[in-house]
Amino acid sequence: MKPRPILLLLMSAAAVCATVALAQDKGSVDTRPLPPLANPNDPKLGAKELFARKVLPAAMQPRVIGFYAKGCIAGAQALPINGDTWQVMRLSRNRNWAHPDMVAMLKRLADKAHKEAGWPGILVGDMSQPRGGPMLTGHASHQVGLDADIWLTPMPDRQLSRNEREEMSAVMMVRADRLDIDPSVWTPTHLAVIRAAALDPGVQRIFVNAAIKKALCREAKGDRSWLAKVRPMYGHDYHFHIRIKCPAGSGECKGQPAPSEGEGCSAGDLAYWFKDSIIHPKPPREQPKPKPPMTLAQLPAACRQVLAAPDAKQ
Ligand SMILES: [Zn+2]
Repeated sequence: MKPRPILLLLMSAAAVCATVALAQDKGSVDTRPLPPLANPNDPKLGAKELFARKVLPAAMQPRVIGFYAKGCIAGAQALPINGDTWQVMRLSRNRNWAHPDMVAMLKRLADKAHKEAGWPGILVGDMSQPRGGPMLTGHASHQVGLDADIWLTPMPDRQLSRNEREEMSAVMMVRADRLDIDPSVWTPTHLAVIRAAALDPGVQRIFVNAAIKKALCREAKGDRSWLAKVRPMYGHDYHFHIRIKCPAGSGECKGQPAPSEGEGCSAGDLAYWFKDSIIHPKPPREQPKPKPPMTLAQLPAACRQVLAAPDAKQ
Protein backbone atom coordinates (compact mmCIF):
# COMPACT_ATOMS: atom_id res chain seq x y z
CA MET A 1 0.00 0.00 0.00
CA LYS A 2 1.15 3.52 -0.71
CA PRO A 3 1.58 5.70 2.37
CA ARG A 4 -0.91 8.35 1.29
CA PRO A 5 -4.17 6.34 1.62
CA ILE A 6 -2.99 5.20 5.05
CA LEU A 7 -2.46 8.81 6.09
CA LEU A 8 -5.87 9.86 4.78
CA LEU A 9 -7.47 6.96 6.59
CA LEU A 10 -5.71 7.92 9.79
CA MET A 11 -6.74 11.54 9.39
CA SER A 12 -10.41 10.75 8.81
CA ALA A 13 -10.45 8.36 11.76
CA ALA A 14 -8.87 11.08 13.88
CA ALA A 15 -11.48 13.61 12.79
CA VAL A 16 -14.28 11.33 13.97
CA CYS A 17 -12.77 10.58 17.36
CA ALA A 18 -10.03 13.06 17.98
CA THR A 19 -9.57 12.05 21.61
CA VAL A 20 -9.10 8.36 20.88
CA ALA A 21 -5.54 7.15 20.61
CA LEU A 22 -5.46 4.54 17.92
CA ALA A 23 -2.58 2.36 19.09
CA GLN A 24 -3.68 -0.32 16.68
CA ASP A 25 -3.35 1.85 13.57
CA LYS A 26 -0.47 0.75 11.43
CA GLY A 27 2.39 2.92 10.27
CA SER A 28 4.96 2.58 7.52
CA VAL A 29 8.73 2.30 7.41
CA ASP A 30 8.56 4.24 4.14
CA THR A 31 7.79 7.73 5.44
CA ARG A 32 8.68 10.97 3.72
CA PRO A 33 9.16 14.34 5.36
CA LEU A 34 6.06 16.52 5.28
CA PRO A 35 6.02 19.05 2.43
CA PRO A 36 6.98 22.62 3.35
CA LEU A 37 4.09 24.95 4.21
CA ALA A 38 3.12 27.55 1.60
CA ASN A 39 2.42 30.16 4.27
CA PRO A 40 3.80 29.17 7.67
CA ASN A 41 2.85 32.57 9.15
CA ASP A 42 -0.84 32.33 8.30
CA PRO A 43 -2.58 33.05 11.64
CA LYS A 44 -5.35 30.58 10.72
CA LEU A 45 -2.89 27.75 10.16
CA GLY A 46 -3.36 24.79 12.50
CA ALA A 47 -0.55 24.72 15.07
CA LYS A 48 -0.37 20.96 14.46
CA GLU A 49 1.11 21.66 11.02
CA LEU A 50 4.02 23.53 12.62
CA PHE A 51 4.65 21.08 15.47
CA ALA A 52 4.50 18.07 13.12
CA ARG A 53 7.37 19.53 11.08
CA LYS A 54 9.77 19.70 14.05
CA VAL A 55 11.77 16.52 14.14
CA LEU A 56 13.91 17.47 17.14
CA PRO A 57 13.21 19.14 20.51
CA ALA A 58 13.90 22.81 21.18
CA ALA A 59 17.42 23.44 22.49
CA MET A 60 16.14 24.77 25.81
CA GLN A 61 15.93 23.56 29.39
CA PRO A 62 13.00 21.17 30.01
CA ARG A 63 9.94 23.36 30.31
CA VAL A 64 6.30 22.26 30.30
CA ILE A 65 3.95 24.94 29.00
CA GLY A 66 0.17 24.75 29.24
CA PHE A 67 -2.29 21.89 29.73
CA TYR A 68 -2.20 18.23 28.64
CA ALA A 69 -4.56 19.04 25.75
CA LYS A 70 -3.34 22.59 24.98
CA GLY A 71 0.36 23.29 25.22
CA CYS A 72 3.86 22.27 24.26
CA ILE A 73 7.22 21.26 25.76
CA ALA A 74 10.80 22.49 25.44
CA GLY A 75 13.84 20.35 26.20
CA ALA A 76 12.00 17.06 25.72
CA GLN A 77 13.96 13.81 26.02
CA ALA A 78 13.56 10.71 23.86
CA LEU A 79 12.81 7.35 25.38
CA PRO A 80 15.47 5.17 23.66
CA ILE A 81 13.71 2.87 21.21
CA ASN A 82 15.20 -0.24 22.84
CA GLY A 83 15.76 -0.95 26.50
CA ASP A 84 16.25 -4.17 28.43
CA THR A 85 12.57 -4.18 29.34
CA TRP A 86 10.89 -1.92 26.77
CA GLN A 87 10.61 -1.25 23.04
CA VAL A 88 9.07 1.75 21.32
CA MET A 89 6.42 1.06 18.66
CA ARG A 90 5.37 3.01 15.51
CA LEU A 91 8.76 4.70 15.14
CA SER A 92 7.52 6.46 11.98
CA ARG A 93 5.40 8.72 14.18
CA ASN A 94 8.43 10.17 16.04
CA ARG A 95 6.35 10.47 19.20
CA ASN A 96 8.72 8.91 21.73
CA TRP A 97 9.49 12.30 23.35
CA ALA A 98 8.52 13.52 26.80
CA HIS A 99 9.57 15.43 29.88
CA PRO A 100 12.56 13.69 31.57
CA ASP A 101 10.25 12.80 34.51
CA MET A 102 8.07 10.78 32.13
CA VAL A 103 11.06 9.06 30.53
CA ALA A 104 12.29 8.08 34.01
CA MET A 105 8.84 6.87 35.05
CA LEU A 106 8.50 4.67 31.95
CA LYS A 107 11.87 3.07 32.65
CA ARG A 108 10.74 2.33 36.23
CA LEU A 109 7.46 0.89 34.97
CA ALA A 110 9.20 -1.28 32.38
CA ASP A 111 11.38 -2.74 35.13
CA LYS A 112 8.36 -3.41 37.36
CA ALA A 113 6.41 -5.02 34.49
CA HIS A 114 9.32 -7.43 34.19
CA LYS A 115 9.81 -8.11 37.89
CA GLU A 116 6.21 -7.97 39.16
CA ALA A 117 4.16 -9.15 36.17
CA GLY A 118 6.74 -11.44 34.58
CA TRP A 119 6.45 -9.69 31.21
CA PRO A 120 9.70 -9.56 29.19
CA GLY A 121 8.91 -5.83 29.10
CA ILE A 122 6.46 -3.20 27.84
CA LEU A 123 5.64 -1.89 24.38
CA VAL A 124 5.42 1.90 24.38
CA GLY A 125 3.04 3.65 21.98
CA ASP A 126 2.61 7.39 21.54
CA MET A 127 4.21 9.80 23.95
CA SER A 128 4.61 13.36 22.54
CA GLN A 129 6.13 15.01 19.50
CA PRO A 130 9.66 16.47 19.94
CA ARG A 131 8.17 19.84 20.92
CA GLY A 132 4.79 18.52 22.02
CA GLY A 133 1.84 20.50 20.71
CA PRO A 134 -1.22 19.25 18.83
CA MET A 135 -0.76 16.35 16.39
CA LEU A 136 -1.89 15.78 12.81
CA THR A 137 -3.50 12.47 13.81
CA GLY A 138 -4.84 10.89 16.97
CA HIS A 139 -4.87 12.43 20.39
CA ALA A 140 -6.28 15.63 21.79
CA SER A 141 -3.87 15.36 24.75
CA HIS A 142 -0.22 14.20 24.73
CA GLN A 143 0.74 17.85 24.06
CA VAL A 144 3.08 18.64 26.96
CA GLY A 145 5.27 15.56 27.33
CA LEU A 146 3.36 14.22 30.35
CA ASP A 147 1.18 11.55 28.64
CA ALA A 148 2.14 8.11 27.31
CA ASP A 149 0.31 5.09 25.88
CA ILE A 150 1.36 1.59 26.91
CA TRP A 151 0.19 -1.40 24.91
CA LEU A 152 -1.86 -4.00 26.75
CA THR A 153 0.37 -6.56 25.05
CA PRO A 154 3.60 -7.81 26.62
CA MET A 155 6.85 -7.10 24.82
CA PRO A 156 7.98 -10.24 22.97
CA ASP A 157 11.16 -11.88 24.19
CA ARG A 158 13.20 -10.54 21.25
CA GLN A 159 13.90 -7.29 19.49
CA LEU A 160 11.16 -6.36 17.01
CA SER A 161 12.17 -5.23 13.52
CA ARG A 162 11.38 -1.72 12.27
CA ASN A 163 8.68 -3.19 10.07
CA GLU A 164 7.10 -5.20 12.89
CA ARG A 165 6.94 -2.04 14.97
CA GLU A 166 4.77 -0.45 12.27
CA GLU A 167 2.68 -3.49 11.38
CA MET A 168 2.13 -5.39 14.62
CA SER A 169 -1.18 -4.84 16.40
CA ALA A 170 -1.87 -4.59 20.08
CA VAL A 171 -4.40 -7.11 21.41
CA MET A 172 -8.04 -6.08 21.83
CA MET A 173 -8.91 -6.60 25.50
CA VAL A 174 -12.65 -5.87 25.41
CA ARG A 175 -15.29 -8.55 24.78
CA ALA A 176 -17.41 -8.22 21.63
CA ASP A 177 -20.48 -7.08 23.61
CA ARG A 178 -18.27 -4.39 25.25
CA LEU A 179 -19.64 -5.21 28.71
CA ASP A 180 -16.48 -6.86 30.06
CA ILE A 181 -12.94 -7.86 29.22
CA ASP A 182 -12.30 -10.78 26.88
CA PRO A 183 -11.27 -13.57 29.27
CA SER A 184 -9.36 -15.36 26.53
CA VAL A 185 -6.77 -12.54 26.42
CA TRP A 186 -7.01 -10.68 29.76
CA THR A 187 -4.70 -12.02 32.49
CA PRO A 188 -3.72 -11.13 36.05
CA THR A 189 -0.45 -9.78 34.63
CA HIS A 190 -2.39 -7.00 32.87
CA LEU A 191 -3.74 -5.95 36.25
CA ALA A 192 -0.24 -6.11 37.73
CA VAL A 193 1.19 -3.75 35.09
CA ILE A 194 -1.65 -1.21 35.41
CA ARG A 195 -1.37 -1.37 39.21
CA ALA A 196 2.39 -0.79 39.06
CA ALA A 197 1.79 2.32 36.95
CA ALA A 198 -0.95 3.62 39.25
CA LEU A 199 1.19 3.10 42.35
CA ASP A 200 3.96 5.32 40.96
CA PRO A 201 3.72 8.52 43.00
CA GLY A 202 4.32 10.74 39.97
CA VAL A 203 1.32 9.35 38.11
CA GLN A 204 -1.68 11.68 38.04
CA ARG A 205 -4.23 9.35 36.42
CA ILE A 206 -4.57 6.40 34.07
CA PHE A 207 -7.21 5.90 31.39
CA VAL A 208 -8.57 2.49 30.43
CA ASN A 209 -11.70 1.23 28.72
CA ALA A 210 -14.61 0.91 31.18
CA ALA A 211 -14.67 -2.89 30.72
CA ILE A 212 -11.06 -2.96 31.91
CA LYS A 213 -11.86 -0.74 34.88
CA LYS A 214 -14.68 -3.16 35.76
CA ALA A 215 -12.23 -6.09 35.64
CA LEU A 216 -9.69 -4.24 37.81
CA CYS A 217 -12.41 -3.48 40.37
CA ARG A 218 -13.42 -7.13 40.46
CA GLU A 219 -9.91 -8.57 40.65
CA ALA A 220 -7.80 -6.14 42.71
CA LYS A 221 -6.76 -7.67 46.04
CA GLY A 222 -5.21 -6.09 49.13
CA ASP A 223 -4.50 -2.34 48.89
CA ARG A 224 -7.04 -0.98 46.42
CA SER A 225 -6.26 2.71 46.86
CA TRP A 226 -4.57 2.84 43.43
CA LEU A 227 -7.91 2.16 41.72
CA ALA A 228 -8.85 5.82 42.29
CA LYS A 229 -6.28 6.87 39.72
CA VAL A 230 -7.58 4.50 37.04
CA ARG A 231 -10.43 6.15 35.14
CA PRO A 232 -12.74 4.81 32.42
CA MET A 233 -12.35 6.52 29.05
CA TYR A 234 -13.57 5.98 25.49
CA GLY A 235 -11.22 3.88 23.38
CA HIS A 236 -8.30 2.44 25.33
CA ASP A 237 -9.32 -1.10 24.40
CA TYR A 238 -5.80 -2.01 23.23
CA HIS A 239 -3.63 0.22 25.39
CA PHE A 240 -3.73 2.21 28.61
CA HIS A 241 -2.83 5.85 28.97
CA ILE A 242 -0.57 7.20 31.72
CA ARG A 243 -0.62 10.86 32.68
CA ILE A 244 1.94 12.20 35.13
CA LYS A 245 1.76 15.29 37.34
CA CYS A 246 3.25 18.67 36.50
CA PRO A 247 6.98 18.42 37.29
CA ALA A 248 8.17 20.25 40.40
CA GLY A 249 8.97 23.90 39.73
CA SER A 250 7.22 24.09 36.36
CA GLY A 251 5.07 27.16 36.96
CA GLU A 252 3.77 27.31 33.40
CA CYS A 253 2.38 23.75 33.56
CA LYS A 254 -1.37 23.63 34.18
CA GLY A 255 -2.16 20.49 36.15
CA GLN A 256 -5.38 18.76 36.98
CA PRO A 257 -6.98 18.19 40.39
CA ALA A 258 -6.19 14.79 41.90
CA PRO A 259 -8.90 12.20 41.21
CA SER A 260 -11.36 11.75 44.09
CA GLU A 261 -10.37 9.27 46.78
CA GLY A 262 -13.02 6.66 45.94
CA GLU A 263 -12.19 3.50 44.00
CA GLY A 264 -14.75 4.38 41.32
CA CYS A 265 -15.96 0.78 41.41
CA SER A 266 -19.58 1.06 42.51
CA ALA A 267 -22.40 0.17 40.12
CA GLY A 268 -23.29 3.86 40.08
CA ASP A 269 -19.73 4.89 39.20
CA LEU A 270 -19.69 2.59 36.19
CA ALA A 271 -23.35 2.79 35.07
CA TYR A 272 -22.81 5.65 32.62
CA TRP A 273 -20.14 3.76 30.69
CA PHE A 274 -22.30 0.69 30.12
CA LYS A 275 -25.43 2.51 28.91
CA ASP A 276 -26.45 1.25 25.49
CA SER A 277 -26.12 4.76 24.04
CA ILE A 278 -22.46 4.86 25.13
CA ILE A 279 -21.54 1.30 24.15
CA HIS A 280 -23.36 1.46 20.81
CA PRO A 281 -23.46 5.15 19.89
CA LYS A 282 -25.79 5.95 17.01
CA PRO A 283 -24.03 7.40 13.99
CA PRO A 284 -24.86 11.10 13.70
CA ARG A 285 -27.60 11.93 11.14
CA GLU A 286 -25.42 14.56 9.58
CA GLN A 287 -21.67 14.44 9.33
CA PRO A 288 -20.46 16.87 12.05
CA LYS A 289 -18.57 19.85 10.64
CA PRO A 290 -14.85 19.39 11.32
CA LYS A 291 -13.74 21.76 14.08
CA PRO A 292 -11.26 24.40 12.98
CA PRO A 293 -7.80 23.31 14.13
CA MET A 294 -6.19 24.94 17.16
CA THR A 295 -4.06 27.82 15.93
CA LEU A 296 -0.74 28.92 17.33
CA ALA A 297 -2.45 32.03 18.75
CA GLN A 298 -4.69 29.77 20.86
CA LEU A 299 -1.73 28.03 22.48
CA PRO A 300 0.22 29.67 25.34
CA ALA A 301 2.45 32.44 23.94
CA ALA A 302 5.62 30.72 25.16
CA CYS A 303 4.94 27.89 22.66
CA ARG A 304 5.89 30.32 19.88
CA GLN A 305 9.37 30.58 21.43
CA VAL A 306 9.55 26.81 21.63
CA LEU A 307 8.73 26.51 17.94
CA ALA A 308 11.23 29.21 17.00
CA ALA A 309 14.11 27.77 19.06
CA PRO A 310 16.95 25.93 17.30
CA ASP A 311 17.05 22.13 17.31
CA ALA A 312 18.62 20.42 20.31
CA LYS A 313 21.84 18.56 19.50
CA GLN A 314 21.44 14.80 19.62
ZN1 LIG B 1 -3.07 8.26 25.10
